[in-house]
Amino acid sequence: MAPVELGLPGVRRTPSTEARPQDDRLIDTFGRVATDLRVSLTDRCNLRCTYCMPAEGLDWLPGPDLLTGAELSRLIGIAVHRLGVREVRFTGGEPLLRKDLAEVLAATAALDPRPSTSLTTNGIGLARRAAELRAAGLDRINVSLDTLRPDRFAAITRRDRLADVLAGMAAARDAGLTPVKVNSVLLRGVNENEAPELLRYCLDQGYQLRFIEQMPLDAQHGWRRSDMVTAQEILALLGKEFELTPMSERRGAAPAERWLVDGGPATVGVIASVTRPFCAACDRTRLTADGALRTCLFATTETDLRGPMRAGADDEELAELWRIAMWGKAKGHGINDDGFTQPDRPMSAIGG
Ligand code: SAM
Repeated sequence: MAPVELGLPGVRRTPSTEARPQDDRLIDTFGRVATDLRVSLTDRCNLRCTYCMPAEGLDWLPGPDLLTGAELSRLIGIAVHRLGVREVRFTGGEPLLRKDLAEVLAATAALDPRPSTSLTTNGIGLARRAAELRAAGLDRINVSLDTLRPDRFAAITRRDRLADVLAGMAAARDAGLTPVKVNSVLLRGVNENEAPELLRYCLDQGYQLRFIEQMPLDAQHGWRRSDMVTAQEILALLGKEFELTPMSERRGAAPAERWLVDGGPATVGVIASVTRPFCAACDRTRLTADGALRTCLFATTETDLRGPMRAGADDEELAELWRIAMWGKAKGHGINDDGFTQPDRPMSAIGG
């Protein structure tokens, strides 16, 4: 099976399970193999970013619905031992809110073969915990930061915590959670003019900055294509102050396209999920905090693993459910298709 070309519209179909070849890995009908597992540890967050959720927050998952640390570790173990997953990224919601994070990390890092581990966080509380997380087995960290101005940070996130985030990033770097990657979403009329400033700060601090195009995944369903700051615009904004040279590296399954800044070696990345989709190279499989498998951020169907697990399914039965779910992965996310419908779960409840 040849991988599809980049950017083709998504085709929804339900492949027959009989047609799936004997293969223990997470293969799909378009020739992709998922090796990168994104695990959401909680749907709760301590920020209220305007483009993610409403000021009052959301109806959080009830505690008993969340996978326990032991259940998470078991499923991650199945993914690594039986399904060929090589990379585990913890996210949320805000994963630092999860009290047993260090134990889950340690259990993941103890697997053989050991997967690489990373964490996507808003950075609040990270200054205190970076060294502990490193010691528990965390390799790398991604911190989300959309502005360097305290008033603007408070307006975007509805919380006055910029200093905590900056301290968290520095602590992560000092603890060796490197490269520290910084994710920024530019919002039209809000922070887009700050793109060069954000890049200069990250270059000075030794962080790798990546801009992410805003996606239709907000709880309020308020995303408008015309409001999205596109990759092309981001590059034009940066181009006013920096010389950007496209990198010739093979991108593989990496979502960010990268540019050398002022001749390098520093780089900047753009994750153009909407205007330059990279679905053909996608190698991701996702597990929500309540144990639902998702083949894609934009999938409109899920496979429950928690129910069968709590009903006594053994590891191979759970692995087979996972394989069957991934076999049905759609060709593309479909954002640019007529009739696109946003998934019911918002980004914060899927795991961004
Ligand atoms: N709380 C953690 C954090 O802040 O990194 C992890 C979860 S958060 C949902 C992950 C990333 O998704 C953040 O960088 C956030 O800016 C981004 N994000 C949230 N909603 C988004 C949207 N609609 N489009 C693009 N990125 C979004």
